Amino acid sequence: MLIDFHTHSTASDGLLPPAELLARAQRRGVEALALTDHDTVAGCREALEHPIAGLTLVPGVELSCHWGGATIHIVGLGMKIDDVALQHLLVSLDRLRRERAERIALKLARLGMPGALEGAQRLAGAGPICRPHFANWLVAEGHVDRVAKAFDKWLGNGKSADVKTQWPALQVAVAAITDAKGVAVLAHPLNYRFTRTKLRALCSEFALVGGAAIEIVNGRQAGSDIALLKRLAEDMGLAVSIGSDFHREWAHGADLGVDTAVAGDLPTVWELLF
Ligand code: AMP
Ligand code: MN
Ligand code: MN
Ligand code: MN
Repeated sequence: MLIDFHTHSTASDGLLPPAELLARAQRRGVEALALTDHDTVAGCREALEHPIAGLTLVPGVELSCHWGGATIHIVGLGMKIDDVALQHLLVSLDRLRRERAERIALKLARLGMPGALEGAQRLAGAGPICRPHFANWLVAEGHVDRVAKAFDKWLGNGKSADVKTQWPALQVAVAAITDAKGVAVLAHPLNYRFTRTKLRALCSEFALVGGAAIEIVNGRQAGSDIALLKRLAEDMGLAVSIGSDFHREWAHGADLGVDTAVAGDLPTVWELLF
């Protein structure tokens, strides 16, 4: 069975509007999908209002938070999207993103690229401003020829237009999801480039504060990494989740849908949700 519990739409930094994302998933034979936009449930709400035959939609979000000096992403699944405390957190994340965007734009202006805030804002529309909006604007303005280069030169962690953001603590993000009756999943555990010891420390704190699962597949993942993550989940007593982290059709990225068989006999989030 194909499912996908990590995807993005135009409500954050994805290229497809929610309805087109769902249609693409349906065409590809995906049976259950969560739209997990960065720090917003607007696209998810829209999608839930327009169900598609044969595709079970799970409410979702990808929350930005902070642990151990790094930005961590927590995917929330199956929560009540109108939960008041969750809504409050999303409002404060939107404000943090706006303040961050202003500081990124200031840095870019000082580097000789004025107008970035307006440019990124236009691309973000009503949703939260994400770094890819800046990257796409930099490409559109001809400051650089590829999005990846915009990250390499200016937007990536520690680069000249990167800014430190005081995201909420890990336990705040996890609590917002679990208090809203959802399941919290640690997204792309290997992306943080932690040592094995630090990754285990993150997982045990995540479990301690109510986290339920880790992603063993996030986009195109090497078989050896999947095996490593499955062992980690088992050691830490966490369930597993899978997703493409789809943002757009891209030769180097995964398309929608991951085979549930990859979980083997480990406990899964889909068993927790359905
Ligand atoms: P933000 O949450 O606003 O900091 O933006 C993070 C998003 O930027 C990720 O979810 C990716 O979609 C994208 N991203 C991060 N690093 C890169 C990179 N090196 N190249 C392209 N996209 C990236
Ligand atoms: Mn993204
Ligand atoms: Mn992420
Ligand atoms: Mn994502």
